[in-house]
Order: sequence, then C-alpha cells, then structure tokens
Amino acid sequence: AEPVQRRTIQELPDELISQIAAGEVVERPASVVRELVDNALDAGARQVTVKLMAGGVRQILVEDDGCGIPVPELPLALKRHATSKIRSLDDLEHVGTMGFRGEALAAIASVSDMSVASRTPHDAHAHRLDARSGELTPAARAVGTSVEARELFFNTPARRKFLKSDATELAHCLEAVRRHALARPEVGFAVWHEGKLVEQLRPGTPAQRLQDVLGDEFVRTSREVDLQIGPMRVHGRAGLPDAARSRADWQYCYVNGRYVRDKLISHGVRSAYEDVLHGSRQPTYVLFIEIDPERVDVNVHPTKIEVRFRDSREVHQAVRKAVEATLARSRAGAEAAPLM
Ligand code: ADP
Ligand code: MG
Repeated sequence: AEPVQRRTIQELPDELISQIAAGEVVERPASVVRELVDNALDAGARQVTVKLMAGGVRQILVEDDGCGIPVPELPLALKRHATSKIRSLDDLEHVGTMGFRGEALAAIASVSDMSVASRTPHDAHAHRLDARSGELTPAARAVGTSVEARELFFNTPARRKFLKSDATELAHCLEAVRRHALARPEVGFAVWHEGKLVEQLRPGTPAQRLQDVLGDEFVRTSREVDLQIGPMRVHGRAGLPDAARSRADWQYCYVNGRYVRDKLISHGVRSAYEDVLHGSRQPTYVLFIEIDPERVDVNVHPTKIEVRFRDSREVHQAVRKAVEATLARSRAGAEAAPLM
C-alpha cells in the first residue's frame, strides 16, 4: 500500500471552526429562521416579522420588538459561545429559554452576510453591526432587534448546492414559524416573501392559534387532551382515529414550550391508538408536555430538536394515558349522543 502522506497537526483557523460548527446548526434557510425566532421569543417579543427573498436564500430578515441588545454587547452577540442566557452548569440544568449555547448568531454569520440592528429602551436610536466588516453604524428602528442574513452559504458552495427550489425552502421556513407559533399564541407572527404577506398570525388564545395554524379540519376532528400525572402535565389536542392521515404532517410535540421530535413521545401517542389505528395511518396531534426542567436534558442536540428524559418510561406512559383518556371520552361521548 502507498505510504500515508501525513501532514502535521495544526489548529484550525477560527473562521473554519465556525463554518464547521455552523454545519450542525444551519442546514437551510428554515434553520436560520428557527434560530432567529427563538432569539426573538427569548427577548420577550410580542410581534415577530420574518421577511424572505428567494425562499430565504437571498435574504432572511427577522424583526422583533423584544428587549434589544445594548451597544457594548453587540460584538459579543456574534461571538461563538457567548450568551446572556446561562452562566453556569446549574443554569443549564434549569434552562427556561429557547437558546443557551451562544452559537446561532456566530454560525449564521459564518455562512452568510449578516448584520444585527438593535435598540434597547435606554438607547436614543438603534445601532447596526455588520458581522463581516465589524462596522458599527447608527440605524433607525424602534426598540427591538432585526437580524438580517443575506446570501446564505455564499462562501460554502457545497452546502448551497443542497438547497431545494425557492418554493420548497419557503415552505420549510413557514413550517419553522408555525412550529413556534403553535406554542406561543400570545405572540403575533407575520411572514413576507418577495414583498408579499404570506402568513399572518395575530396574537390570541391557544384555541384561536390552533385554528389559525392548522385550520378547521384539525380542530373539528380532534379533542382536548389534558392530564396531570405526577410531575408532568400533558395537554393539547389529539385527533379522532377517523382523522388519521397518510402523512405524519399534523404531529406537533413540545417539551416545556420547545418543539421536539422524539421517538419515545410519538411511540407513546401511537400506542394510545393501537386498537383503533391500523397500518401506516398517522394520528394527528398537538401535544404540550410540561415537565420539571430537571427531568429533561435539552442539551443533547445542536438544534435542540431532540431531548433526553431522565425517566423515559414515565414520559411514555404519561403521553399514552393522556391520549387514551381523550379517546375514551370521545368514544363515550359518541355512544351517549342521541341517534339522529
Ligand atoms: P443564544 O440564543 O444561545 O444565547 P445566539 O447566538 O442565538 O445564542 O445569541 C447570542 C446572544 O445575543 C443572546 O444570548 C442574546 O443575548 C443576544 N440576542 C440574540 N438575538 C437577540 C434578539 N433578537 N433580541 C435580543 N437579544 C438577542
Ligand atoms: Mg439563540
């Protein structure tokens, strides 16, 4: 065999480290939207506006009316592993914010042309920091923050090639906003694409938001779930067996307000339907699991879409029982209903 042409070990340049790390967090425009909306919500925003060009590839602009970032901290906000959300391991174990890794802005800045404009209630005007040039300039906006990312993956062509059509990327961006919106009905959301308003969700009650995001059909064909079991509460809505779909597209699950995809939870739901759903038919549900933060580890995946439970059996059972109770009630209700 050929002798290996070994090269010396060297530390990677900072820029490359960021680009490698960004690969884990930023897969496509929707990942940027997800991270920026997370930040807006963590900042206490009441209204979040997302403006996209070319499915988000050309431009993603997320504007909020949250607390803003003080000027001296603006450069820090763009640094890797810099966050205002945790200070210690103990904070990490009780984390109540969507973010805490201090990675998103640095990651986005390393794969796009990014700028942040922000104003706190104490500032006379806003300031904009351009990530590439480091230039800080006065800007005009109300209290809150705007983050703009242009030309996603312009400097990582291999990544850019994996992007799908603008329509597909836009659909993913919209889905990212809807996932947030379902969990935060008190916050208004608007999405613009190419200068046209494509989604508007006004602040309202949880029921209103469910209706606005998933529509009449979901509301009509689902029933309320609400069960407290020990330290956990499972609430939301689960679809009647007849409403099951061929695709798993109406399945939303949240742990302490964070959207997650979790096999254990989906299996728990599925098992509640075991006698009434056959084959590959997919139940519909929007479920919120509230659990003591100490009983769940959210720091297992860079995008935090996966979590780890201290006691997974407890979670599986709670989800199953909560949905079972709903299905049993709806059956009893159907039997008790007068015959037409
Ligand atoms: P993380 O959210 O994990 O802290 P980010 O890189 O997403 O990391 O953001 C870094 C920091 O910048 C945040 O901790 C926060 O202090 C600040 N920040 C980012 N976006 C906003 C925003 N929209 N409003 C206010 N502060 C923000
Ligand atoms: Mg963040």
